[in-house]
Amino acid sequence: HAKAQGRNNYQLFEPSLSETAVESLSLEHALRCAADRDEFTLYYQPQIEVATRKLVGVEALIRWESEEFGVVPPGKFIRIAEECGLILQIGDWVLRESCRQRAEWNADGIGSFPVAVNVSALQFRQPEFVRRVEEAMQLYGIKAEQLELELTESIVMHESGVTAAALEKLKTMGISLAIDDFGTGYSSLGYLKHLPIQKLKVDGSFIRGIETDKADRAIVEAIVSLGRALNLTLVAEGVEQRSTITLLGKLGCHVAQGYLYCRPLPPEDFVAWYREFCGEGKRLSVA
Ligand code: C2E
Ligand code: MG
Ligand code: MG
Ligand code: MG
Repeated sequence: HAKAQGRNNYQLFEPSLSETAVESLSLEHALRCAADRDEFTLYYQPQIEVATRKLVGVEALIRWESEEFGVVPPGKFIRIAEECGLILQIGDWVLRESCRQRAEWNADGIGSFPVAVNVSALQFRQPEFVRRVEEAMQLYGIKAEQLELELTESIVMHESGVTAAALEKLKTMGISLAIDDFGTGYSSLGYLKHLPIQKLKVDGSFIRGIETDKADRAIVEAIVSLGRALNLTLVAEGVEQRSTITLLGKLGCHVAQGYLYCRPLPPEDFVAWYREFCGEGKRLSVA
């Protein structure tokens, strides 16, 4: 009987569990070498103002081209990097590289739009996080208006004086703060009342169903009206359909980002895209 049970357990747990564990262990090992081997790059995705069809910002999205695994999407390695603490070094690199890229674009006359950087909770909770942001900006001579931080709800929900003080400091420096994937995290909204947030990014999972799913539509409407009442800028993520833009405009969403306009692009391709669509007085013709 015991033997049978043992075998059952074995069959139940062995396949999926061990595969994932081995996979994340070897990914973790490769991740440790990735920075030294220069395997990370940032791709940039345009953010477009709905009313004017003009570029108002770009989001920096990390890509890992691993020698062993090929291109690993962030969805596959950010969590592992968080679990083993490597996210601190990676996040620091992302901050500095975003500032370096913005400085290069400043020198080349590629607009003055801000670069939005994704920040993980672990990274934000480092006592020296604000100083690291300042250092990255100073290193490349970037003004605060050219940097934006995308924070998760788990960061701002963390009811602590330390969090509030860090957010206040960043705001005082002039850095704009956005809540990423809004609507997918915690249900408390109280933090919006007292924390210095400027933007809500409505999660792409709600945007994709906005025209076909009543619940998605209701959720987006509610987020947009809440955000507008609180004087926040609303950004829709994951916009893929032209018709979605029309609807988002009607609902009062300010900015849209998604494959409809442009996929995240490596810097060279982004600059080519920028020169084609965003030159003097140009408006995106796509919507
Ligand atoms: P996110 O910050 O919410 O970024 C949006 C994700 O949606 C990106 O996936 C982007 O490529 C994708 N996306 C953009 N437009 C569309 C669209 O129209 N349709 C669809 N289906 N997807 C679209 P990506 O680049 O794979 O990044 C996934 C997540 O990984 C990000 O979600 C963010 O949470 C995290 N991440 C990316 N880069 C960094 C980073 O430098 N640091 C940290 N801490 N996290 C990062
Ligand atoms: Mg983001
Ligand atoms: Mg997002
Ligand atoms: Mg999202």
